[in-house]
Amino acid sequence: MGLVLYNDLTRRKEEFAPVSPGRIGFYVCGPTVYDYIHIGNARPFVVFDALRRYMEYKGFEVIYVQNFTDIDDKMINKANQLGITVKELAEQFIEAYFEDIIPLGVRQATVHPKATEHIDDIIRLISRIIENGHAYIIDGNVYFDVKSYPNYGKLSGQSLEELQAGARIEVDERKRHPLDFVLWKAKKEGEPWWDSPWGHGRPGWHIECSAMAMKYLGDTIDIHGGGSDLIFPHHENEIAQAEAATGKQFVRFWIHNGYLLINKEKMSKSLGNILNVREIRKNFQPLAVRLFILAAHYRSPLDFSDDSLIQATKSLQRLRNCYSDLLFYMERSQEKNTPDTWLEDVVNNGYKRFCNALDDDFNTAGALGAVFEVVRDLNNYLKENETLDKQALIKSKDFFETVENILGVIGINTIGEEFAGTLSSSEIEGLIKEREAARKKRDFARADAIRNELASKGIILEDTPLGTRWKKKEQ
Ligand SMILES: [Zn+2]
Ligand SMILES: [Zn+2]
Repeated sequence: MGLVLYNDLTRRKEEFAPVSPGRIGFYVCGPTVYDYIHIGNARPFVVFDALRRYMEYKGFEVIYVQNFTDIDDKMINKANQLGITVKELAEQFIEAYFEDIIPLGVRQATVHPKATEHIDDIIRLISRIIENGHAYIIDGNVYFDVKSYPNYGKLSGQSLEELQAGARIEVDERKRHPLDFVLWKAKKEGEPWWDSPWGHGRPGWHIECSAMAMKYLGDTIDIHGGGSDLIFPHHENEIAQAEAATGKQFVRFWIHNGYLLINKEKMSKSLGNILNVREIRKNFQPLAVRLFILAAHYRSPLDFSDDSLIQATKSLQRLRNCYSDLLFYMERSQEKNTPDTWLEDVVNNGYKRFCNALDDDFNTAGALGAVFEVVRDLNNYLKENETLDKQALIKSKDFFETVENILGVIGINTIGEEFAGTLSSSEIEGLIKEREAARKKRDFARADAIRNELASKGIILEDTPLGTRWKKKEQ
């Protein structure tokens, strides 16, 4: 069995396979760049980054597109507030986006298209929708005509009446139906504008994603991700726009992540509990945030609290300590004539359970469970055996590297550096050498002083038959 994903379009789990064998077109709705991203924004970016990595691990080429919304009401209001142009505002917060998201281990997309750089594509798409009879023009505004498109509501599984009853809709008497939404907005004084067949104006929000997704990925794309708050109206509208223009299915797999709560409450401006990634990064390691997000199934609600992040920080340290122990013992172990099949079995089972969990609707919670079982068994193996099997340790190391490659929750290339905190790893190694020398001279007072000094900085020493190990305390 390959990768199975829950498709919100069909409301069931389906085996995932791309239209073109070996090549996946993957679109994720990106941020509106008028402010710093908050932890709720970060969840889909982390989840879909990991899913993309898993697809690549499985041998697919993934064309990953994530847009920047750099023109809309929020952008215009914020730019006016700050007395800068919309373009300056966008530049500032696109930079801030990368500053916040790269430490969370989220890789750059194949393309990060911006709405303002695709106005021609957007205008062409709107023109096709009008030609096909699915949009109408009033005073330089273009509206999508939801009644003309019988499939409207297919993603949410609701009729026009049901959607209308549940929606907050701006009253606009010019619209034919309350759910009709704007594709092109006529220019207002003091707003950025572009030329179009309908006069000066700017695109509505929803149209950019259909236009940019199809530009980079073709008329039918394999997978589209986003937060579940985007299902209606944004994704419903994306489908209507694209399919009204092409007559083809727009997206084969719609994947949405669940809500993120803060101390069991919904995050909202009115509650004043919006938590920026930038703030969280001041108090917690960014990889602990990533681990916290991936430790839940992506469709489950996720409750953020300081306690949950403290827990994730401990788990992160446990992973990192296990990996650095492994490297330490690997260098000092030998080839064995009779291999330790016990440890090899642990690792092989770890792989199997890890991949089975990810194949089952990308269950990262289950996958991490498998990883922590390997950690537990490996820690025991290292503690309880005097002679270690180098081959089995190398296999364990490969396992950790695979986990890192896909989930990115260990931070392998920073182990031994930021890991040490206030001291660099070479300073610590230096102190350990000094302590060994002191012990040889039977200067136990000095040796203990060094141990205590390190302990005060959260670094614990472990004397093993193979030499002294140091590690960061797991709090
Ligand atoms: Zn979208
Ligand atoms: Zn979008």
